[in-house]
Amino acid sequence: MFEKLKNKLKQIKERITRKVAPEPVQEAPPEAKPEVPPKITPEVPPPKRPSKGLRRAVKRIVHRELAPGDIEDIVWDLQVGLLESDVAVPVVDHIIERVKAGLVGRKLGLRDDPKKIADEVLREAIKEVLKTEKEVDLLKVVDAKRAEGEPAVIVFVGINGTGKTTTIAKMTRYLMGHGYKVVLAAADTFRAAGIEQLEIHAERVGVDVIKQRRGSDAAAVAYDAIAHAKARGLDVVLVDTAGRMQTEVNLMDEMKKIVRVAKPDMIIFVGDALTGNDAVEQAKTFDQTVGITGSILCKMDADARGGAALSITQVTGKPILFLGTGQGYDDLVEFKPEIILNALFGD
Ligand code: GDP
Ligand code: GDP
Repeated sequence: MFEKLKNKLKQIKERITRKVAPEPVQEAPPEAKPEVPPKITPEVPPPKRPSKGLRRAVKRIVHRELAPGDIEDIVWDLQVGLLESDVAVPVVDHIIERVKAGLVGRKLGLRDDPKKIADEVLREAIKEVLKTEKEVDLLKVVDAKRAEGEPAVIVFVGINGTGKTTTIAKMTRYLMGHGYKVVLAAADTFRAAGIEQLEIHAERVGVDVIKQRRGSDAAAVAYDAIAHAKARGLDVVLVDTAGRMQTEVNLMDEMKKIVRVAKPDMIIFVGDALTGNDAVEQAKTFDQTVGITGSILCKMDADARGGAALSITQVTGKPILFLGTGQGYDDLVEFKPEIILNALFGD
């Protein structure tokens, strides 16, 4: 995960370390000696004050601070590295600002560990963009609904081919593992293949799918599934939706209708991490249309760049909830910033 960006960050970290490290002591320039007649030297010479040049050099080492110019090249390289990794421009700007703030003007003493400073400054800058004001806990949402005797309704939105149906199957497995009863709603009614695909996954993980004929009203399917869950005392309804291009006006209208009818407790955007900034732009569009609760990024196992993972939180203002880390139904992990940080900075 993130091999490319990790290597880039490693280089940057080494360069910051060298900048932060005390400079080697410069030989003090010989002071011009005035021509004086040789004196009779006393037997024991008095202790000499260190020369002015040497004193200045020592002071520089013990109390140094970095000027903006000292790190200009490094910051530029970091910026290029992040952009090459498909990190969104405002997020790159934010990271760069944090790195500068962490280094410029910082008092550097002899006791500081340059490597630690470099690592800390980069880590903190990236950690910052992975945080949201509001945290979302999916299991808590489901629990709260169960306490009310109602099924939790979770709608999944996203473009086809990104891993949405597989993610719904993974989420089913995850919820079943926590003791919840789940039913799926095949509200991607536009594609016959969409309904079939969901049914295949559902059979494998062992849950029912509520469906109607192809072309039927997607909101009606979601409504049926919720009624089914209520009648059977099930805990969670996972709604699969059609995922055509986010620019498709009809599709967005359909999403709005599903949301109006199903009144979901959560709307989760599913994106393909490999598509980088595209996934981030999709999330933004879905968020503007129906308001997402958070995101799940799939195919993290194959993602060398990390751009989507670093950008999606800040761009949407909504947290990443889970990461898809493989094709198996158990390859879904709860998101924690440390997963990303360890992938980027771990050994
Ligand atoms: P949908 O059209 O959005 O429903 O996409 P699918 O769920 O059918 O997934 C498309 C492909 O991506 C399938 O081959 C999945 O096995 C694969 N896939 C989904 N999630 C992951 C993941 O986290 N890692 C990897 N490597 N592949 C995944
Ligand atoms: P294409 O031929 O597969 O590209 O489909 P079109 O974009 O021509 O759409 C055909 C019709 O289906 C139009 O009337 C659209 O409003 C409708 N449509 C398009 N996408 C969806 C969708 O995702 N869900 C539903 N229910 N209808 C859709």
